[in-house]
Amino acid sequence: MFLVRKSLILMGLVCALALTSGVAAQTASETAAQAAPSTRPKPRVFVLGVNGMEWDIIRPLLLQGKMPNLARVIKNGTYGKLRTLAAPNCPKVYTAIETSTPPEENGITGFLVGGITANTHMLKREPLWSVLSKNKISVGMANVPATFPVLPVNGYMVSGMLTRGKECEDGVLCSPKLSEVEGGDAVYPTSLASELTTAVGDFNIDCSRMPSAEDLKGKEAQVVNDWLAEVDRIRAQQTKLFDYLLAHHPTDFTFLGQSCEDRVGHWLYPIQPFHQGYNPKINGLRPDAFPQQYVAFDKLLGVVLSHVDENSYFFILSDHGIKPLREFEETDPHAHMDHEKTTPVIAKHDFGDGDDVPGSFFAMGPGIKKNYRLMGFPVSVYDVAPTILHLYGIAALPQMRGQVMAEIFDGKNPPATVAQKGEK
Ligand SMILES: [Zn+2]
Repeated sequence: MFLVRKSLILMGLVCALALTSGVAAQTASETAAQAAPSTRPKPRVFVLGVNGMEWDIIRPLLLQGKMPNLARVIKNGTYGKLRTLAAPNCPKVYTAIETSTPPEENGITGFLVGGITANTHMLKREPLWSVLSKNKISVGMANVPATFPVLPVNGYMVSGMLTRGKECEDGVLCSPKLSEVEGGDAVYPTSLASELTTAVGDFNIDCSRMPSAEDLKGKEAQVVNDWLAEVDRIRAQQTKLFDYLLAHHPTDFTFLGQSCEDRVGHWLYPIQPFHQGYNPKINGLRPDAFPQQYVAFDKLLGVVLSHVDENSYFFILSDHGIKPLREFEETDPHAHMDHEKTTPVIAKHDFGDGDDVPGSFFAMGPGIKKNYRLMGFPVSVYDVAPTILHLYGIAALPQMRGQVMAEIFDGKNPPATVAQKGEK
């Protein structure tokens, strides 16, 4: 079905970008000229984005053997920190990953842009999924932050965090079900929405909203435990969604996003009584809650990996880490409340120095170094798009700031050649 509609999709894509972004439209002919030679087989590339994966938490879990799937990726691949932006948050960093351009250039500077929730109509630079689509690479995306409303791609797209719907005021994180989405489409093509509802159910697009201080008062244990059960339910739905899409709609390039980890970390990071904001009524209850998110993530990872063969490229990346609040930053307006300004948070990621809260990075595939640790910050969020384009033999767009991640590849083989070598 997608192939039949491709020319319409591509026309729609060009129109949509022309409407929303003059600069993106200008790049259309340039990208077409850079199309990969049709003789070379297309590699399959998978990206699993995690919202705020924190090395301080996953290291002990890896040592305890509680993340066997991630351990397998590390053993077979390259891993380390991913340099992120200053004061990182999801929409800002994911858009920098997609466009390889800084927020002030691509238009997505945060959760709110000019008082309105960040959305794809604000994009001023062409994202990776658009460049790939124009080059006849099929694209599948699900739950990636800041992809609402979805725009046409050569494949499918299910939006993620910042999808608007029932009870979603601007500046508030919310979790509409597919049937509750308002103000644009959450699924492309439209016909896929009913198929997914039948196969997966009426799933939540994003992780659940955090309870307010008012909700918590006097019934902390019940609210915390109920909320964590809801998080588990949403991750189970996401796992089912990803499994279904990977099995029934395989694409050359697939980008899936996970969002519950960050949400749990903000208000249930396992802090100590000497940390800023410690409240024994809440923070003494479930110190396992945040580490448990990554154990649960590892199970989802196992399901995704069951669709990835040794000839494919597989990346896991997070947009930032998350760290406890600091006493000496108490005057910071973000210090004690989340985006909703009501949840008593004890950890955050929008520290001014992004190197204090680096993202995480894992990659494996043909020609990628095995069991190789990246020291320092040789790879950044800006390098993701140029590297993926290069795997398809497509040159980075002139405005892209990043470089191909040369250090992750073995020997002197350029990655595009490596991809060819990996094909049977
Ligand atoms: Zn994030």
